[in-house]
Amino acid sequence: MNQPMNQQLTLALSKGRIFEETLPLLEAAGIMVTENPETSRKLILPTNDKDVRVIIVRASDVPTYVQYGAADFGVAGKDVLIEHGGEGLYQPIDLRIAKCRMSVAVSAGFDYASAVRQGARLRVATKYVQTAREHFAAKGVHVDLIKLYGSMELAPLVGLSDAIVDLVSTGSTLKANNLVEVEHIMDISSRLVVNRAALKLKRERLQPILEAFERASKRKE
Ligand code: ATP
Ligand code: MG
Repeated sequence: MNQPMNQQLTLALSKGRIFEETLPLLEAAGIMVTENPETSRKLILPTNDKDVRVIIVRASDVPTYVQYGAADFGVAGKDVLIEHGGEGLYQPIDLRIAKCRMSVAVSAGFDYASAVRQGARLRVATKYVQTAREHFAAKGVHVDLIKLYGSMELAPLVGLSDAIVDLVSTGSTLKANNLVEVEHIMDISSRLVVNRAALKLKRERLQPILEAFERASKRKE
């Protein structure tokens, strides 16, 4: 018997800049989120379209919800996607939002260039162990990676590490903590990620939204 296909869509977003910068893209697709996650305690937010809902999850959990199909699509930073590995995810669009860069930073007094030149074993603290491992391996620099979950800027100041790998946008947090950026690893922006099964089964519903996102993000430089 032919059941009508469930075309209900769930979009996974994180609070803060990704949520805010995704709103205009959703509006370009005719979708308005009708509750504000900063003031609401709800984790499932309705939209003006009864078939579209938004779930609010940790930034680093977005790929997981989409991978397992608990969300059909989501928005996640390239930083988060590299750490996740991208398994089960289709990544069709760079949304060009939440832009920043992944960098290596050290205390202002630390001579990074000569430490690297001398082949010293560097202690590097980061939330982004995958990215850091690849970066230093490609340079042939030996590192001990120390996994942190936040406030990486503190690590060199209290002797936990020689360097950090972290996201930088204006550089003001580094500056406030007397740290200097010594290497630019890569540019970061957020991507749309889509569950591979949903892409096939809900294509009719997803396709126009993906197209609207693509057009709206192309208008950004
Ligand atoms: P959580 O707060 O849940 O631990 P998080 O700190 O990684 O996660 P956000 O600070 O909201 O979450 O960052 C979400 C995404 O926004 C990051 O994965 C990254 O892609 C991007 N981002 C992070 N910092 C900046 C920044 N300073 N400027 C622009 N984009 C940023
Ligand atoms: Mg945060």
